[in-house]
Amino acid sequence: MVAPYRFPERLAIRPRGPVDGTVRLPGSKSLTNRALLCATLAGGTSTLIGALDAEDTRVMMKCLTRLGGSFAVAGEAVVVAGTGGHLLGSIRALNAAASGTTARFLTAAATLADGPSLIDGTPRMRRRPIGELVAALQALGADVEALGAGGCPPVRVGGGELPGGHTVIDARRSSQFVSAIALAAPYAKQDTSLEFLDGVLVSRPYVESTVEVMRAFGAHVELDANGIRISRGRYQSGSFHVEPDASAAAYPLVAAAITGGSVQVPGFRRGSRQADLGILDVLAAMGCAIEWSDPGFSLTGPADGLTGVDVDMGDMPDAVLAVAVAGAFASGPSRFTNIANLRIKESDRLAALAAELRKLGADTEAGPDRLVVRPRLLHGAEIDTYDDHRMAMAFSLAGLVVPNVVIRDPGCVVKTWPTFFEDMGQLWPEGGNLASLETEAGLMMDRIVVAIDGPGGAGKTTVSKGVAARLDLPHLDTGAFYRAAALVAIRGGIDLDDAEAVIEAVRKTEFDYHDGTMLLGGEAVSEAIRSPGLASGASRVSAIPGVRELLVARQQAWVDQHGGAAVVEGRDIGTVVFPEAPVKIFLTARPEIRAARRAGDLKGEGESLEGIAQELERRDHRDSTRLTSPLRPASDAVEVDTSDLRIDEVIARIVELVTERVGKS
Ligand code: C5P
Repeated sequence: MVAPYRFPERLAIRPRGPVDGTVRLPGSKSLTNRALLCATLAGGTSTLIGALDAEDTRVMMKCLTRLGGSFAVAGEAVVVAGTGGHLLGSIRALNAAASGTTARFLTAAATLADGPSLIDGTPRMRRRPIGELVAALQALGADVEALGAGGCPPVRVGGGELPGGHTVIDARRSSQFVSAIALAAPYAKQDTSLEFLDGVLVSRPYVESTVEVMRAFGAHVELDANGIRISRGRYQSGSFHVEPDASAAAYPLVAAAITGGSVQVPGFRRGSRQADLGILDVLAAMGCAIEWSDPGFSLTGPADGLTGVDVDMGDMPDAVLAVAVAGAFASGPSRFTNIANLRIKESDRLAALAAELRKLGADTEAGPDRLVVRPRLLHGAEIDTYDDHRMAMAFSLAGLVVPNVVIRDPGCVVKTWPTFFEDMGQLWPEGGNLASLETEAGLMMDRIVVAIDGPGGAGKTTVSKGVAARLDLPHLDTGAFYRAAALVAIRGGIDLDDAEAVIEAVRKTEFDYHDGTMLLGGEAVSEAIRSPGLASGASRVSAIPGVRELLVARQQAWVDQHGGAAVVEGRDIGTVVFPEAPVKIFLTARPEIRAARRAGDLKGEGESLEGIAQELERRDHRDSTRLTSPLRPASDAVEVDTSDLRIDEVIARIVELVTERVGKS
């Protein structure tokens, strides 16, 4: 599941003074996706340290999983179980979504699979060309075909083998075509060499990065002016350090440049091959001072304003967006050339840049392969982002200087930098995020907890599950933890009034909750904890403060491990477990209704309605009068009486509340 990041529909950026801080950058997307593929093709287990965790890399992992790879994300690292080059075909289409590297790299890699595959993506991906890659693979003997109009995805790959050999490749539009074949080529039947048509390779440094990653995994590959040669062989598994993302560095650097501030950027080696670091030369030419501390560097913007530049950006197309925004703040015009391939990226970036800079008041001119920016007096505007993460990130920089810049659909940053607006806030000593105060409440990012409390039989579980499904959030039933704690004690023959012994037994047991199943030391106990007698046992052990302390910590950790966002149901979620939850609901229902519902849950397991009503009442009384975390609504909870409402009405009401409080769902 993609992390449930949530953003408002529009984000107003707050102008702030000069930048003065250190930025923590996400791992490089290009290196991560290259390394994920090499590690999947290698035999054995590899660890990618500092790997990017964002939509594009998750898309790559999801597709590679279908081809036989296996991945575990562990903090800042990804552990990859390799296939030894034995990829499986995938009958269901591999959805590369909007990830260009995934679509291209897997088109080549899937030729090695033992069956056919289909590679597809978003409507935009279906307009991004892949014909040159397909033609070169065909020339190398592979069974591949672009099914979309004009040589675009979807792509059908026959699989079986990649014969390899020599061919000419048209690499004038995208270097990813070359990288894609190179990455798969060690597993071809013979050595492979690609000669660049007309000796042209656009964005060459990206292919240099490919070579670097392939060599790190033990491949033999040579790149020169006219072509690339890859020897037949195998990748070796191992540890790989992913550098921070140089194209992401562009944003904090330009933030410092246009605010006249300073930023420290750790993690890069001076000899880094990431082409986007070329932005340092461009910003130096615009008047910024750069100092290397290797690894890492700092950049200070000029106090008296930037100067315009005339620069060939062919090697660093991704950096153009940020520097074009910088250009709007310079004292004279800037010209960015050799950027025709910007027109076939996530959006037609040349047209998008020109149009949105104009909205801010700049004078722009977009040619077929260049962009001219003439600075004028700038003013606020609502910026369209074209579902393009770099548009959102670049234009939010303008809002650091110009009041009233509003970014539409800021959530598109999840593609490569989900926490962009928060991480960038760390560039100022007072922290925070980039949102203006009016919208700050709306910028919840990945920290949405919907707390649903209430007595038994109020409908918590059904409602919480429904809300979680509607919002694509994980669901946690904390009652199951207390029921499981009672089960641990009962199984251990422990007197439930012996607090010390119960605490000790709970402490020693591993609790987990997975896809709605409660696990004790790995054993699924969902059935066992639903037995009628256990509810009262749960209520008894839940009154022991030491038990609560242990279980609350585990519930909080669970939510943390699930991206900090979830629908959590219980008795004390809004008051104790997540007092910061932006949405708190207290569900109630009249006692006779609750008893009837509970009777329905128990499906006539021998208890009379009256008996159930009495048991519920006893439990409510104990839960509401215990000293630690008694059952009661949080002061900011919304109370919903479900007695006379249908379940879907309650769910709709809560979803509406969440949407109102935390932006779009
Ligand atoms: O929700 P459920 O009926 O499964 O909960 C069983 C018992 O666990 C409750 O009666 C209550 O005593 C306890 N509990 C609690 N705090 C929670 C969830 C449940 O004390 N957050």
